[in-house]
Amino acid sequence: MERERLEQAVPHLLAWYRLFRRDLPWRKDKEPYHVWVSEIMLQQTRVEAVKGYYIRFLEKFPTVSALAAAPEDEVLKAWEGLGYYSRARNLHRAAKAIAAAGAFPETFADVRALPGVGDYTAGAICSIAYDLPCPAVDGNVLRVLTRLLADPGEIGDAATRSRFAEALRAVYPPEAGDFAQALMELGALVCLPNGAPLCGECPWETLCLAHAAGEEERYPVRAEKKARERIPVSVYVLQCGGEFALERRKDKGLLAGLWQFPLVEGRDAPPDRGEVLAQKRAVHIFTHKEWEMTGYLVRVPERDERFVWATAEEIGKRYALPSALKAFFEWVK
Ligand code: SF4
Repeated sequence: MERERLEQAVPHLLAWYRLFRRDLPWRKDKEPYHVWVSEIMLQQTRVEAVKGYYIRFLEKFPTVSALAAAPEDEVLKAWEGLGYYSRARNLHRAAKAIAAAGAFPETFADVRALPGVGDYTAGAICSIAYDLPCPAVDGNVLRVLTRLLADPGEIGDAATRSRFAEALRAVYPPEAGDFAQALMELGALVCLPNGAPLCGECPWETLCLAHAAGEEERYPVRAEKKARERIPVSVYVLQCGGEFALERRKDKGLLAGLWQFPLVEGRDAPPDRGEVLAQKRAVHIFTHKEWEMTGYLVRVPERDERFVWATAEEIGKRYALPSALKAFFEWVK
């Protein structure tokens, strides 16, 4: 790999970052707890969607100890709508471990050992909070770097990832936190994933090999994706008096631990009892699967005690529902 080109790229990128970095709520300080919460929220989630959640979450849980002491339902409620709920559960578990240890971990190995923290997140936390030379390499960073170096490595391949992590480690400047964020920022603002990158605004315009060859869109090289699995789902919004039936999902797997209207994955079938008042279809896309849902609003004559029954107001306040079911929550409201 072209170490010299990478070395030259570092000061250009840092200078650009100081001028153009966005003013984001998690860039106000380097408190490890804040950095950690923001990095977990930003996993698979857009910056714009995270901003409000981040601010509200820290108002509600201002310290690791406050988060550790909160009941899990309260943490899931604060996460409601952000998706990938295992992140919230892991954050909560990790907060308990940190509170018990008495301090936030300070080495890559100890941060990496927290539930819900992989190589990328540990690298981001250690470089941003402690200025340690710990590369954080995700799809965005790989896109930017494979273009800079016109590197044909397949970016889904773990070997490509570790090759780039090593190359970055060798050129990390003392301002490790700024450098890590600058790489992410360049990928978010200039070296864009879809459509043409904005090379005319890029600090690497004269250094970038893909740009010099006019082949920006040839990189990154990616293996073909598998099609998402489509699953029919029946959702039953059961109404009895002013209350609605809820059930809790299992502790493991998709949407673990969240509350939902009773539903059946894998088939589309009308309810076998009660009076159907309304029916509608909705689709929700997860990373690897797609729910093709048919929802039924059903008036039932008596409460089935297998479920928890709650009014619309109680559901809004107390029960964290996945956004996949938002279309049907409208009925309840
Ligand atoms: S010059 Fe263009 S392709 Fe190269 S890193 Fe910059 S934005 Fe990306």
